[in-house]
Amino acid sequence: MKRRNFLKACLIGGTTIALGKTNKGWASGSFEGYPEAMGVLVDTTRCIGCRSCEAACNKEQKLPEPDTSFDDPSVFEHDRRPTAKAYTVVNRYQKEQPSGPVYRKVQCNHCNEPACLTSCFVNAYTKTKEGAVIYNSKVCVGCRNCMIACPFNAPGYDYDSATNPIVKKCILCYDTRLKYGKPPACVEICPQEALTFGHRADLIKLAHERIRATPDRYVDHVYGEKEVGGTSWLYLAPVGFDKLGFDTTLSNDPIISNVKDFLGMVPMVLSIWPALFSGIHLLCKNQEHDGHGHDTDSNQEDTKP
Ligand code: SF4
Ligand code: SF4
Repeated sequence: MKRRNFLKACLIGGTTIALGKTNKGWASGSFEGYPEAMGVLVDTTRCIGCRSCEAACNKEQKLPEPDTSFDDPSVFEHDRRPTAKAYTVVNRYQKEQPSGPVYRKVQCNHCNEPACLTSCFVNAYTKTKEGAVIYNSKVCVGCRNCMIACPFNAPGYDYDSATNPIVKKCILCYDTRLKYGKPPACVEICPQEALTFGHRADLIKLAHERIRATPDRYVDHVYGEKEVGGTSWLYLAPVGFDKLGFDTTLSNDPIISNVKDFLGMVPMVLSIWPALFSGIHLLCKNQEHDGHGHDTDSNQEDTKP
């Protein structure tokens, strides 16, 4: 087990022990996603790095103005990851290649079996039947288990408030669009049709059809179809995914599966620290919660069938 996976297993294992047998842990590995789950297919061969999707996300989610404007190409000089102030970012790869650079949009991938959800001992996360993984800041205690557990480094942390921590990430525009059947704002704005919204099952078929129709254009792999049990965001690429910053070492098993190998080694402290952390946090937390974050009416939905 790699060091990173070991740490994830520690956190998830500790949480699982602390909670006892729950509906979101022990049956993991058999869930293939809700049949009607939606998703987005990202065709990196079509993306031109215009960052319109970043701007649309910023507006839709009422995020603060970015430090550097959306038309400033200097952001491509280094890799960025999503933050509490930018739920999606576009990075550039292969810039030295004669065929030109490849751009990759990054955000929460909305996993079928989300490690963030499994690692959260206060059940702040919900996987909705539409496929979105949403978040309830009212119950969050700011432990950041989810940030460590996420295999894609998707959740961002709002450090602006020490006593009222908020984890933030893409929610697939659930509150304002997805639950009304509308595509996320980033998909709607993309001038290149690099982003396709639809049922996840249909997108997988579409992705394989594109590979079959133009095999010279794509590597024969749909990233997210199987990785960590499958994700709602799926990717096509012209070169190996390892060249575009994707983690190609991830297993096809959900992250929770690592726990099965590990539970026997979890030290006792991991079984009690979530309770300790919650107690300390609640002492600090102001009873008047300001309600920031992705609170939704539907955050009581079942996490899994
Ligand atoms: S990508 Fe990370 S934050 Fe998003 S659903 Fe998966 S585990 Fe959770
Ligand atoms: S809007 Fe479309 S073309 Fe522009 S950066 Fe985003 S995904 Fe790429």
